[in-house]
Amino acid sequence: MNKILDGKKTSLRIKEEIKIKVDKLISEGHRPPHLAAILVGEDGASLTYVTNKVLSCKQVGFKSSLIRLPESISEDELLKEIKKLNVSEEIDGFIVQLPLPNHIDDEKVLLSISADKDVDGFHPENFGRMALNMESFIPATPFGIIELLERYNIDLNGKDTVIIGRSNIVGRPISILLSRKTKIGNSTVTVVHSRTKKLEFYTKNADIIVSALGVPGFLKGDMVKDGVIIVDVGITRVKDSSKKKGYAIKGDVDFDSVYEKASYITPVPGGVGPMTIASLLLNTLKAHKKSIA
Ligand code: NAD
Repeated sequence: MNKILDGKKTSLRIKEEIKIKVDKLISEGHRPPHLAAILVGEDGASLTYVTNKVLSCKQVGFKSSLIRLPESISEDELLKEIKKLNVSEEIDGFIVQLPLPNHIDDEKVLLSISADKDVDGFHPENFGRMALNMESFIPATPFGIIELLERYNIDLNGKDTVIIGRSNIVGRPISILLSRKTKIGNSTVTVVHSRTKKLEFYTKNADIIVSALGVPGFLKGDMVKDGVIIVDVGITRVKDSSKKKGYAIKGDVDFDSVYEKASYITPVPGGVGPMTIASLLLNTLKAHKKSIA
């Protein structure tokens, strides 16, 4: 049996579906969806993420704009840039790539983004609506996980789910989503984190584990039960001189030992990462629909 939840293949299918919709929109006389991304500073990993997002826009026929701002930009200047995007009729949705420099208040930035263009789904309005099971933008990584589980017909109903990590962008939202009364939900969710005692007690009893802590190889085979479903969100660059780039991308899961026991597992790379980008595109398409409605 193939145990791999293949995010790469699934994301390509989603992109094909989006492309068909975009072609139809254009044939009906609409402009293509337009995603903008603000990148502050020169962080290599952030630049790679944003570049991938921009390239994916091209693949599906979206327009994209990358707005690069210097590390030294003041908070006020950044807020002005955001304001411009909020009112632009040309742009359907935008993201501000994190992390931001220390002198900029993340919370102020987040609150300044129009909820209607918040395709990252981080604004409290979208987050609250998501928690209440109302129409909203769902943060891209959790959305990608839901989409992947759905497309593999994974049944979560009544299952015990453990989420490792409680960040605002992954752990917390996915914990809300998987316990909601929805098709890919209805599971009994436990959130474990850095202060959890006896973390293994929870992971060993879990039917599904979503790992989002950012510690490579953290989850080992002896910490899970037979038949477990594993979603590995972790992406960490680990030095590796055998690689051209000098590093390898590692997930939170010790793949070989966990694979033995798992019924399904996402690889890293090729699992949640590409699904995150596909979900950002889905959110942008949704924002565009709103703008032409
Ligand atoms: P974060 O650092 O904001 O949060 C990490 C969480 O893990 C915290 O809640 C912390 O309590 C918990 N944690 C840390 N050490 C722990 C330990 N020893 N035991 C139990 N819990 C522990 O991270 P994040 O932004 O949620 O990202 C997590 C990982 O997912 C990172 O590797 C990140 O790069 C990756 N990520 C991947 C994608 C993707 O598209 N695949 C998207 C976002 C984040």
